[in-house]
Amino acid sequence: MESQKKPNHRQWIAQTPEGVETLGKGVERVVEWAQEYLSSLDEREVCPQIEWGEVLKGLDDGPPMGGLGIDDIGGLIGEADEEFVDRLVHWNSPRFFAYFPCSNSVPAIMGELMSAVVNVNGMLWSTSPACTELEVRMMDWCADMFGLDDGFRFDRSEQGGGCIQGTASEAVLAAMVAARRRCTKQGVDRSMVTVYTSDQAHSSVIKAAMIAGLADDADDRSRVRVLKSDGDLRMDPAVLEQAIRDDIEAGLVPALVVATVGSTSTGAVDPVGKIADVIERCLGSDHFGGWLHVDAAWAGAACVCPEHQKILDGHERADSLCINPHKWLLTNFDCDLFWVRDRNELTDSMSITPAYLRDKASDTSEVIDYRDWHVALGRRMRALKLWMVIRCFGVDGLRSHIRGHIELAEVFERWVVGEPRVEMVCDRMLGLVCFRAVQGSGSTSRLVEEVNSVGRVMITHSEVPIGAGGAMESIARVSVGTPGVGLADIEVLIEEIGLGLDRVACGS
Ligand SMILES: *Cc1c(COP(=O)(O)O)cnc(C)c1O
Repeated sequence: MESQKKPNHRQWIAQTPEGVETLGKGVERVVEWAQEYLSSLDEREVCPQIEWGEVLKGLDDGPPMGGLGIDDIGGLIGEADEEFVDRLVHWNSPRFFAYFPCSNSVPAIMGELMSAVVNVNGMLWSTSPACTELEVRMMDWCADMFGLDDGFRFDRSEQGGGCIQGTASEAVLAAMVAARRRCTKQGVDRSMVTVYTSDQAHSSVIKAAMIAGLADDADDRSRVRVLKSDGDLRMDPAVLEQAIRDDIEAGLVPALVVATVGSTSTGAVDPVGKIADVIERCLGSDHFGGWLHVDAAWAGAACVCPEHQKILDGHERADSLCINPHKWLLTNFDCDLFWVRDRNELTDSMSITPAYLRDKASDTSEVIDYRDWHVALGRRMRALKLWMVIRCFGVDGLRSHIRGHIELAEVFERWVVGEPRVEMVCDRMLGLVCFRAVQGSGSTSRLVEEVNSVGRVMITHSEVPIGAGGAMESIARVSVGTPGVGLADIEVLIEEIGLGLDRVACGS
């Protein structure tokens, strides 16, 4: 594999005159590739049918001793395209309706590139002041955009604020350790704290409990209460209240309740205000704990539109909240916005200052040092892509993006309602439509398999407890959220589901 003539490695060092030149040439080739890729999404199978090991087979067993030169870059990009890109699920395809789509945009891609170029570590304010200050302002801009309570803002409260976490999973972990710290600070033994969420909450809540040491494994319920949701798959405040009262009676300390606004399976919205009432009733002034975290990872993005902000009703009584622009707000991975009402409670749980991180600015505590807000010490300048997105689209642009997707979801919803072989499982939630085959659970899962095996569109399957008996039933989910989606794609989706239904009928 070694190439004949030794390439000059300096050409790859971006900070040299040679590097600056090769960066120009290299990025140009990448951009050419990107334009071709993005224009070909329409013709690509959304989900290639691939066996484990196919990509591995195409890769040498070990790394090459010799490197390459800029003249080889076209070939290298071509190789990546053939070997890897062809074997990806095309999340950016306009016919990707699975999971919750993630989204990017031209400004986000540019911001990501700029962030890679400056490549700073914003662990402390002093290690890259603009990295922190831009993020502080973006958190306030977004709080403004989403109609969040002033108590979460740096500029309108004493203790509130937020930071960019990688993911909603990291956000709930941060909320969990802060919630536990609130209890242990009062002298509570950490082994006594309990956390509550519903059976429709994202799996990241239990995972956070496992990481934080509140659960030994995913099934350990000694400190984690997974509450049975109500008939509409929302957290049931009465069930929560009973669980909290039982635990208090048993001498345990309810530390955290995680409410979901826009559940992953069906988009269900927990009654956050009523949950806050329960917490207040059971854990009022003379108790500890009672941290309320709101997980609005997906649905929160819709709150850029004033008409959807009511889904966050009650959040003004929460202690923390997260929304993922990397899902539905045109900002590429990774970008989760995490707000807290009292940032000292958060940093209390994660702040540690070894001598080599001491500095004057931090000692005066006049500055925000984001290293104390999450697991990682180092952090890149993620706020830059968010700033680019908000500046380029404007709030108006972001609103029409969301509204357009909701209208497309309505088109699909109307088809489901009019099609006798399928029915809605629950009301459409924003861009998410959950439906099932009228023939039952088995047909629904077969339908999703059939539709995805063709590869023209991709949808997902989930299981939720339906009806009074609460038996688990298969549902099919269509989530409209990929940036380039249009009416023609919804038509293809409808056609493919219709054909899938034909095949399921023949097979049974
Ligand atoms: C997607 C999702 C998550 C997990 O998001 P990550 O950012 O990938 O960790 C958590 N909660 C809800 C409600 C989600 O929809």
